[in-house]
Amino acid sequence: MSVSPSPLTPFPLPVSMVDPFGRHVSYLRVSVTDRCDFRCVYCMSEHMTFLPKVDLLSLEELDRLCTAFVHKGVRKLRITGGEPLVRRNIMWLFRALSRHLGTGALEELTLTTNGSQLPKFAQELADCGVKRINVSLDTLDADRFKAITRWGELAQVAAGLDAAAKAGLQVKINAVALKGVNEFEIVDLVRFAHDRGADLTLIETMPLGDIDGDRTDQYLPLSIVRARLMDEFTLEDIPYRTGGPARYVRVKETGGRLGFITPMTHNFCESCNRVRLTCTGTLYMCLGQDDAADLRSVLRASTDDAALSRAIDEAISRKPKGHDFIIDRRSKKPAVARHMSVTGG
Ligand code: SAM
Ligand code: SF4
Repeated sequence: MSVSPSPLTPFPLPVSMVDPFGRHVSYLRVSVTDRCDFRCVYCMSEHMTFLPKVDLLSLEELDRLCTAFVHKGVRKLRITGGEPLVRRNIMWLFRALSRHLGTGALEELTLTTNGSQLPKFAQELADCGVKRINVSLDTLDADRFKAITRWGELAQVAAGLDAAAKAGLQVKINAVALKGVNEFEIVDLVRFAHDRGADLTLIETMPLGDIDGDRTDQYLPLSIVRARLMDEFTLEDIPYRTGGPARYVRVKETGGRLGFITPMTHNFCESCNRVRLTCTGTLYMCLGQDDAADLRSVLRASTDDAALSRAIDEAISRKPKGHDFIIDRRSKKPAVARHMSVTGG
């Protein structure tokens, strides 16, 4: 691809974006594709309708938008999806964005992945300045892995974890806690992650998008998981934060860190520092609300980044106080219609 990154200095020095509730927005998550090589049961239905390819921003446009955010004070950029590593030529975007690490404008460039493409890309990611990645892994059992991801192979992800280790990438493993599926495997997941020197973060299922199953059947409050883990381990609260919503403990017996992301049982909105950009240039100011800003039309209307900067400011001024997720038998519909793969997990 013969595109070049947008120039370095169209903006004045970084300013910080502050929302109406005084929260500094310094973290941008970018879903670079809504497509994926897996079909996880809590994330997608088996037969998904994906966005038409013509609606997608080009990699060059994604670079221009991300750069605008960096110039407005974003310090941490996470590339996600869908499965970001299945987007064609995605390494071009990583290479382009890595220049902001070089200037110090960006503190961290990172990635959330299902791990399937890491054997191919781990080394190149490390070469682009990526230091830490999140890999999603809900089970260590090959059959259960197939049942959860529908299309995935555990061996491929295991090879991906090895490739990441070889490339020197620090890995955090994310696991969604699923009632009746992996709930009695969490102790094993803790040991597996900590044996590899990886943190483990547990996530509650969130009501995003229609899936084939019933979410009340999947939802497992992490308060229950935590109580059970305490039969096996000593959990010590620690102040460690990664800029995300996870609350961490140290597992005394393994020495490793364990995070809990509890959007359902404990709302973490008061410290939310992030906004999310989709692959069509729609900016969501909250994962759990529908309000959004169309940055693609602003981007395409002019090459002048000042208009973009104003549109971003206007969007941030509408960042809501929080979400109100609820999963129970009475509310069968998802809180928001779009899937996690669209907004970016
Ligand atoms: N494909 C990549 C992956 O799986 O890591 C990146 C995108 S995926 C949407 C990001 C994270 O969101 C994954 O850890 C996944 O387990 C999680 N996720 C997806 N749907 C979810 C839901 N409804 N509730 C909670 N977590 C969800
Ligand atoms: Fe794909 Fe990630 Fe969603 Fe699984 S959680 S279907 S890997 S986007």
